[in-house]
Amino acid sequence: MFQNLQDKLDRAFKVLKGQGNITEINVAETMKEIRKALLDADVNYKTAKTFTDDVKQKALGQNVLTSISPGQLLTKIMNDELTALMGGTVSDLDISTNPTVILIAGLNGAGKTTFSGKLANYLRDKKGKKPLLVAGDVYRPAAVDQLQVLGEQVNVPVYVNRESNDPVAIAKEGVEEAKRNGNNIVIIDTAGRLAIDEALMNEISAVKDATKPHEILFVVDSMTGQDAVNTAKAFNDRLDFTGVVLTKLDGDTRGGAALSIKSVVNKPIKFIGTGEKMEALDVFHPDRMASRILG
Ligand code: GDP
Repeated sequence: MFQNLQDKLDRAFKVLKGQGNITEINVAETMKEIRKALLDADVNYKTAKTFTDDVKQKALGQNVLTSISPGQLLTKIMNDELTALMGGTVSDLDISTNPTVILIAGLNGAGKTTFSGKLANYLRDKKGKKPLLVAGDVYRPAAVDQLQVLGEQVNVPVYVNRESNDPVAIAKEGVEEAKRNGNNIVIIDTAGRLAIDEALMNEISAVKDATKPHEILFVVDSMTGQDAVNTAKAFNDRLDFTGVVLTKLDGDTRGGAALSIKSVVNKPIKFIGTGEKMEALDVFHPDRMASRILG
């Protein structure tokens, strides 16, 4: 895909060269095209504009105009710039404390419960940890069942208290249970709502205050485009989360939400979900996402 863009730019510049000198105006026109492509990939307007303005400055500074393969150079500049904007390097989880408490937040259907199972699986398999999952969604009994099924699948215990409808109490009990049983990771799945509301925010803030999580991961569906950015902002304003999980990147989304969210809330994207299976989880690599966004 990446190669395609480079070829396209090289061809465009070749045509321009045939007509004499490539000018600053030509670069500006090209940037307009790139901006369109970014908007198509769900990058928000302001982010796309800032990005193309920056790339234009860099391109002119690096003499793209006189280079033999301007398309290649421009593609490299764009790729480097996008990678840097998305954090540059992989952002690891902070899992050094025993037990490490990880709070999972997001709207209904974002993929929180699925991700909780995937994360438990990943931390046990890849990091040699002993996780405990905590079923904190007191409103949907089906969510508790779902987490139990996933826990069984990945062979990780799940703390459940069906008698209680108090998410703060359940979260605290979960942490105590982990300490008793020697679990060094506690993953607390929480309730979501269809949209952001005060009650949801108050509740999850209370769980945060009671459990002092080392990581708060905001889970968001990458297919929801601009809404993903607004939701991320609202959750970050209240929770000051430590990282983002972008789910459903196995769909046909180009992943522009990754860039928009990072530029709006300035928190690292830590994981991406690439399917419904428990293994369909990847650590987020900014350079790979840059290639995907550029298409
Ligand atoms: P929650 O309400 O936030 O807990 O969301 P769920 O974990 O129940 O997920 C909602 C739906 O999205 C379920 O059908 C999941 O199987 C599906 N899902 C979650 N993550 C992914 C993903 O990365 N890719 C795909 N294709 N589906 C996912």
